[in-house]
Amino acid sequence: MDARERLERCGVAVTANRLLVLGALSGAGRPQTPQELLIALPGRMNRVTLYRILELLVERGVAARHNADGRAFRYCLGQGAAGHSHFHCTRCGATRCVDSATLEPGLSRLLSGLPMQVDMAEVTLGGVCESCLNA
Ligand SMILES: [Zn+2]
Ligand SMILES: [Zn+2]
Repeated sequence: MDARERLERCGVAVTANRLLVLGALSGAGRPQTPQELLIALPGRMNRVTLYRILELLVERGVAARHNADGRAFRYCLGQGAAGHSHFHCTRCGATRCVDSATLEPGLSRLLSGLPMQVDMAEVTLGGVCESCLNA
């Protein structure tokens, strides 16, 4: 699915800036902080514009936002709910997306037993990444 399709499918109007942000997110291969995105984006995007776009993408489920290390928010493509978790390395600080689709049945069971309406669920894994383990 290309960037344009992804936006349209989530009901987000396609603009040049939104396509640029989506391109930067998908090209990165790991969750990005707004600062990293500003550096990666071609040309000079206004910080406020970037934040607005990121907010919209998260709201519409195009991108996920999380703060694995409790400092900076990071953004990546895909929804933040089940099926998509994040790993944060406490040694080198690397953060990456982890496919956690196997959690889905358990999560659905948990949610169906709760009296609240749950709109988002996030699983964050922390520990030592394989590069640090092998270092
Ligand atoms: Zn590491
Ligand atoms: Zn992710």
